Amino acid sequence: MDNVGYQKTLRPSWFVGLIILFCFNPFQALAKDVAIGVFAYQGEQAATSDWNPLISYLNQTLPDHRFRLENHDAESLRQAIAGERIDLVITNPGYYIAMEAAFGLSRIATLESSGLSAAKALGSVVLVRSDRTDLQELSDLAGKRMAAVAPDAFGGYLLAAQEMLHNGVDPESDLKEIRFIGLPMDQIVEAVQQGQVDAGIVRACVPEQMVREKRLAPADFRVLSQRQENQFPCALSTPLYPNWPLAVTRQTDPVLAKQVARALLSMPQTADGMGWTVPADYQPVHDLYRELRVGPYAYLREITPEGLARRFWPWLLGALMALLAWIIHTVRAEHLVLRRTAQLRDSLHAREQAETRMRESQEQMEHLSRLSVLGELSGNLAHELNQPLTTIGTYARTVLRRQDSGRLTPEAISEACSQIVSEAERAGGIVQRIRHFAKKRSAVREPVDLVLIAKEARHLIIGMLAHPPTIHFDNRLPDHCRVLADGPQIQQVLLNLIKNALDAGRNLPPERHRVQVIVEAVDHWVHLHVIDQGCGLEPPQLAHLFEPFFTTKPDGLGLGLPICKTIIEAHGGRLWAEPNAAGPGMCFSFSLPCHDLPT
Ligand code: ADP
Repeated sequence: MDNVGYQKTLRPSWFVGLIILFCFNPFQALAKDVAIGVFAYQGEQAATSDWNPLISYLNQTLPDHRFRLENHDAESLRQAIAGERIDLVITNPGYYIAMEAAFGLSRIATLESSGLSAAKALGSVVLVRSDRTDLQELSDLAGKRMAAVAPDAFGGYLLAAQEMLHNGVDPESDLKEIRFIGLPMDQIVEAVQQGQVDAGIVRACVPEQMVREKRLAPADFRVLSQRQENQFPCALSTPLYPNWPLAVTRQTDPVLAKQVARALLSMPQTADGMGWTVPADYQPVHDLYRELRVGPYAYLREITPEGLARRFWPWLLGALMALLAWIIHTVRAEHLVLRRTAQLRDSLHAREQAETRMRESQEQMEHLSRLSVLGELSGNLAHELNQPLTTIGTYARTVLRRQDSGRLTPEAISEACSQIVSEAERAGGIVQRIRHFAKKRSAVREPVDLVLIAKEARHLIIGMLAHPPTIHFDNRLPDHCRVLADGPQIQQVLLNLIKNALDAGRNLPPERHRVQVIVEAVDHWVHLHVIDQGCGLEPPQLAHLFEPFFTTKPDGLGLGLPICKTIIEAHGGRLWAEPNAAGPGMCFSFSLPCHDLPT
């Protein structure tokens, strides 16, 4: 029994008296047999002398039953429980929790000694010889030799083993040697004293008992990592654990269990204050076995999927939760990505549609702008076309008149016809150019000769006006230089600029009607300038020049320049205006990147 105090309560005289009483009990023959199996770790004799007083007390208190003691070692106690041969079990806390897990043992009372809590009654002590000054703490035991009772001894090994683990020494791997000597524990103390081992593990109070019995001198030994527990009378190296329980098996009659529990709780304390109390909490014992992975928790050492799962379930649960969180996150992210992609696709589609609409309306606007330029320029178009038509009519009439008067010579017919053809071609050319310019079309990009376009524009304007102004053309461009552009659009820009230049000189003397067009290469750019000597612009007007609807003309729209700017910028160029440096008037310029023809 792991309790020193209780042993002192066993008085032979009292015990003999109870036996006699038991023998002469007249009801004994009818009484039901109740076997109490005890873990007799110190041998049968000791166990019998320890527990018989309890048997006698129970027989006396519950005369309907005949309680008898069965002494067992650990294995035979296990077999007796498994074979359902015993009704009540008294064992140490370690074996109790093992049987609890294996056979459903259930405690009904816990042994108690006066002044001590039943929950804190058992501990261990690690002893060294007092001359071993190198050993002070449990952590000093690494690489040392130790003695203990047995690998499964509760107070004789396991309590100290756990405490050593807490101090960073694994008794299974960090010791030089662990020697299991068995009982009695005096042998362990002797092994330490004789220097066979460096330290020994014994149940708390064993050294004090040996001192009392003069088998050990206090000066001979020292306790490692000694600790104090409230009111506990002996030296300790470990925390305290609950005392021995008395338990019932699954088969025990519940009525009997109740009667025994009541009898135990009302059992008078011995002179040394030993008795029974309500069952203690054995969870700390479970925790110890689990941490050491022994007894009912030995499966934690097995490297099977089940063993690993049972051992690492908190980690596995954590990993599972993390995996679950990751899956949820991934699914959510995927969902968000899909949703965002759909939104982007929609907005891209909407943008494409808006761009298409904008392009269409821009083309429409450019077309209208071209028509507007033509409208403004074609004030004299009827007159212009009328001229060749009148000439044609005159020549035709001359031919008829000569025919009537008989003066029609082949030379005259020939001259009249060639004049008629030339005038008809001139009129056709004007119509052709206007139709080409006014045609509705989509923009393209191709290498174009800016000089040709400028000449064409000049031609178009001169052809449409009754009194065409002087438009000087100055080509300073190298031969190979082209621009990648939409020809008609650039022509439209030029027409706008030249028309504005002509408008600027309209109410001024004829010498200020002069317009100059210069095309030149600057670095890798082509610059085109339209220079007039017209009315010019004041700085405040210049600031708003390219804003839509800015106009100073009574019939102006104010859209020509903004459209020109849009066209030039869409070609990667720039459109700007500045006062004419060489006199009155303005200079409107645009630049386009030069596109060299392959040589
Ligand atoms: P609109 O010709 O219909 O007015 P534009 O956008 O072509 O529209 O021109 C805007 C304004 O810019 C004109 O009304 C005029 O005041 C000014 N402007 C354009 N070109 C010249 C120029 N060469 N000289 C002076 N003013 C000009």
